[in-house]
Amino acid sequence: MATQALYNRWRGQVFADILGQDHITKTLQNQIRAGRVGHAYLFAGMRGTGKTSTARIMAKAVNCVGETDAPPCDHCHICRSIAEGRSLDLIEIDGASNRGIDEIRQLRDSVSFSPSEGRYKIYVIDEVHMLTNEAFNALLKTLEEPPPHVIFILCTTAPHRLPDTVLSRCQRFDFRRAPLPLLLKKLHMICDQEKIAIERDALEFIARRATGSFRDAESLLDQLSSYSDGLEEITLEQVRSILGSVSSALVTQLVLSMTAGDLPAGLRTINQAIDTGAEPRQFLKEIIDHLRALLLVKVGGRDDRHALSAQALAEIGQLAEAGSF
Ligand SMILES: [Zn+2]
Repeated sequence: MATQALYNRWRGQVFADILGQDHITKTLQNQIRAGRVGHAYLFAGMRGTGKTSTARIMAKAVNCVGETDAPPCDHCHICRSIAEGRSLDLIEIDGASNRGIDEIRQLRDSVSFSPSEGRYKIYVIDEVHMLTNEAFNALLKTLEEPPPHVIFILCTTAPHRLPDTVLSRCQRFDFRRAPLPLLLKKLHMICDQEKIAIERDALEFIARRATGSFRDAESLLDQLSSYSDGLEEITLEQVRSILGSVSSALVTQLVLSMTAGDLPAGLRTINQAIDTGAEPRQFLKEIIDHLRALLLVKVGGRDDRHALSAQALAEIGQLAEAGSF
């Protein structure tokens, strides 16, 4: 059997596993408890914030037959069949590769059939903004009057690309970017359980690099853990070199040259960065993060995105105080 990616192995199975989205999970749980489940939901938000996981948990929760006040129990035969991807009542459709009217018509025809074992059939359409206009129109009729045993969960990273007619028929939930402490908490938990030895700074670097996406953070950790032999601790330097990142000293050096208007020194630093294996796009991103933080310090704000390490922020503070730009 192929080894499962960390992200899939550690995918949330119950509402409590969905970190940083309490505003959504609480509302959904209240609706289930009160027996007032909607028939069309829109889950919007950037990749890796828990939209698909929450949709699957919702499918379990509305169909769960376990003895619990807070479904899903995750143990009954229905919860298990959904968790193992065997359930016929959870239909997941990738909107990017099934974007035409024929696919949506097919879906529309299947909607009227009763669920096979649970109370509800749940249709999850991922990347729903990729559907064509004709497909949206065909979907609209079903969204207007879905059979009582059907729940639609539309997921998207680009809600602004959905027609208003679709938006107005859905209960919308916006998934937030995961804050750094939560990303770190989950990474720590995974490292503990998977026995991955990694420096704290290195883990923090991964969490910052993931910019709010659990999936990105876990994929990076996956990549790094397969690089290490499991005996020695993964260091920050290794993480930087594997991910094509440059040391923050080089970024600071370049920013200094820029603020001083010293073109030759700046070009030398860029060469040095590329020579030491920097990935140009990542280098550029780090420079922009640096300049952004510098600008914020300069106007008296603070960088709450945690894009930079404490050391880099201290250097920026000094640079801003020097006030040479
Ligand atoms: Zn259950």
